[in-house]
Amino acid sequence: MRKSLKAFAVFVLVVVCVVMLAACDANAEYYVLGTFLEIKTEGAGGAALADEINAFMQETELAVSTVMEGSDIYAVNAAPVGEAVACRPVTMEIVKEAEYVYDLTDGAYDPSVFPLVELWGFSPDKFVAGAEGNIPTDEDIAATLEKVGFRKCFSVDYEKGTVTKLVEGAKLDLGGIAKGYAVEKALSEVGKKQKALVNLGGNIGAANKTYRIGISAPREYASQYFAVVELYAGECIATSGDYQRCFIKDGVRYHHIINPFTGRPADSGVAGASVISSDGALGDALATAVVVAGTTSADKWVSATGCSIIAVNGDMAVSVFGGRTVECV
Ligand code: AMP
Ligand code: MG
Repeated sequence: MRKSLKAFAVFVLVVVCVVMLAACDANAEYYVLGTFLEIKTEGAGGAALADEINAFMQETELAVSTVMEGSDIYAVNAAPVGEAVACRPVTMEIVKEAEYVYDLTDGAYDPSVFPLVELWGFSPDKFVAGAEGNIPTDEDIAATLEKVGFRKCFSVDYEKGTVTKLVEGAKLDLGGIAKGYAVEKALSEVGKKQKALVNLGGNIGAANKTYRIGISAPREYASQYFAVVELYAGECIATSGDYQRCFIKDGVRYHHIINPFTGRPADSGVAGASVISSDGALGDALATAVVVAGTTSADKWVSATGCSIIAVNGDMAVSVFGGRTVECV
């Protein structure tokens, strides 16, 4: 009798511990930077941590949104030519990284592409999923190209923290880099102990644990994912693709990643690109660049940055650059 009571007590204790452990894990969802933010944490304090990460990301959005009045980027885009616009430190930090990737990719990633994004109807305030899109005329594209080109259109003073427009109608857009930046910063908020996975619209960061991540298939495929990678603690993976914000007209796909040289949606043959890096902003911007420029320079970008690149084309053929093992499914 005594023995079975003891066994019962042990069983109850184990059950209670399991319930407590489960209660410590948290799964939170928010909407920020134009997309869904999902945070999974393991261990105590996860819910509060998730709220902190969300608050930080909301602040980042207030600084870099193209559509929120009061953001630095909104102010830069509305300012007349020649006016130096003072920006928050977070904006300057992202602009600096954007300039680095602009140089690294010879302008394939170009944070001044916004006039073209607007012309094609892909800006956050204009794009309606499922709506019939409008194809601009060659004349409109040529005229808009005049307002695009980071070096030509903007001058940045990092010491003073200002951005100055040099060409009438030029506009900045950090939409191709800010999410990766925010995820990378979220990992430092998590600190050294808690295990967490942060997913901001496909920009994913792993804290203090290795997670297995599935990469979405850009076209109809047997499974939702075409590949699985291990994301190590402190790393981020960013994915860009021609399937994320797009419309199809007369059998042609028009999408939100614009080639800043042609003024048209990128047609490099890359349908989806993922970049793994501990520098989330770099990975995000590079993923956008790979969709624009294709994989010709991928080896150069991998050796310059230490990242890994996974590219997939419209026929679901996969190319991998850098040391990462990719399990195709
Ligand atoms: P992502 O999803 O990171 O590839 O970012 C795509 C977003 O970045 C688009 O919705 C545009 O706002 C912006 N964008 C489009 N083309 C480019 C480009 N060539 N360089 C930089 N940003 C771009
Ligand atoms: Mg990007």
